Amino acid sequence: MREDTSNSGTTPGESTLAIHHGNTFAPDTGAVMPPIFTTATFSHGNPNGFDYTRSGNPNFRILESVLSSVENCSHTTVFASGVSAITAVASSLKSGDLVLCEENLYGCTVRLFEKIFSKFGIETAWLDFTDIDSLKQIREKNPTMIWIESPTNPLLKVLDIKAICKEANKNNIPVLVDNTFSTPLLQKPLELGATLSLTSTTKYINGHSDALGGAICTNDDEWQDRMNFAQKALGLHPSPFDSWLITRGIKTLPLRLERQINNAESIADQLAEHPLVKWVRYPFRSDHPQHKIALKQMKRGGAIITISINGDLKKTYEFCKNLRYFTLAESLGGVESLICHPATMTHASIKPELRLSLGIDDSLVRFSIGCEDLSDLTQDVNKALAKIK
Ligand SMILES: *Cc1c(COP(=O)(O)O)cnc(C)c1O
Repeated sequence: MREDTSNSGTTPGESTLAIHHGNTFAPDTGAVMPPIFTTATFSHGNPNGFDYTRSGNPNFRILESVLSSVENCSHTTVFASGVSAITAVASSLKSGDLVLCEENLYGCTVRLFEKIFSKFGIETAWLDFTDIDSLKQIREKNPTMIWIESPTNPLLKVLDIKAICKEANKNNIPVLVDNTFSTPLLQKPLELGATLSLTSTTKYINGHSDALGGAICTNDDEWQDRMNFAQKALGLHPSPFDSWLITRGIKTLPLRLERQINNAESIADQLAEHPLVKWVRYPFRSDHPQHKIALKQMKRGGAIITISINGDLKKTYEFCKNLRYFTLAESLGGVESLICHPATMTHASIKPELRLSLGIDDSLVRFSIGCEDLSDLTQDVNKALAKIK
C-alpha cells in the first residue's frame, strides 16, 4: 500500500525522513507540498484505490508513510486523536479478554477502559510495571494484551520495555506502548519488542497545538488490518486538513525536539537546586529512580519535567498562575511551554485516595518545555517561585 522510501542501500537520517513525504498524489501539478484533499468520495476505479474518505484519503496516506519511516516500521494507521487510536485497539478485543495495564496510564486511557470497554466485558488488571514482580504477574495472569506507557504521565516513571516485551513475547502476548511522551525519535517501542506503538500526534508530532491526531504503528499485518478496519468501521478517521497540518508539523519535529530537550535538561538541573522545590523528576537525571533504564532505551530524556513544590495546594496553584511564558493548560509537546497541575486538571477525575496512592499529590506540577529562549523560561520560573516564598 505504501511506496518504498528507502534509497539504494543507505538509510536516510531521521530529519530527512521527517521532511520527505514522497508521493503528493498531485503529480500533474508539480506541487512540492501536498494539497489538502477535501473530498468525501472518489470516483470508482481510480489508480490509488481510494473510495470514501472514512476508509482512506491521500492526506492520511502521506502522513502514514512519514510516520512509518520515522518509526521504522511497515504499517501506520492514522486516527482523529490519540483517544481514537486507543479506541481502535480496544475495540478489536472481545468480552472476557484481559488487558494488563500499567497503573499510571494516561487518564483518558483509564477512563475508556473503566467507563466504556468494561461495559462490553473487557477486563483490566493494573500493575506497577517498575516492580520486578510484574514479570511474574505476566506469566501468572496470562493476559490477552499488555498496555504500557513510558515515561508515564505525570510521574515520568520509566518502564523496561524490552524486559516486559521479552516476557510477553514468550507467550505471544502483544504489548502496546503509548509512545506519546518520547516520540519515535527518542524511543522506538517496536524495536524493543512491542507489537503496537501508539502516539497522540496532537502532542510532539504536530507540535503546534492546532490539531488533534493519533496513530498506531506496527510490523504485524494482522494488526494493521484490524486498525484499518477500526478506522472505517468505527469512523475514527482524522480530517484531511488535520492530517495535512500534522504532516507539516512533523517536518520540524527533530529541530523542535532538540531545542525543547536542551531547554528541559537545563531547567531540570536548575529546579533541582531551588529550595522551594522538593524534588525533580527527569529521566536523564541521575536521581531519577529508573535512570539506568532510561539511558538504555531512550536517546535523550525528553522535554517533560515533573516537580514537587515545597507548599500546599494553594501555593502550588499560585506558582502555576504566576508564570508568564508557561500557560496553565492541558496537553504537552507544543512549541509553547505549558504547565499542568495534575491534581486539579488531568487527574482530577481519579478518586483522591487512588490519586495519592499513585503519588499524584497537590504539590505536583508538570512542565512541558517549549522552544522559547532558555533565559526567558528560567527567569520566569525563578520569579514565579520567588513570589510564593
Ligand atoms: C494526549 C495523550 C493521549 C490522548 O491523545 P488525544 O490526541 O488527546 O486524544 C494518549 N496518551 C498520552 C500519553 C497522551 O499524552
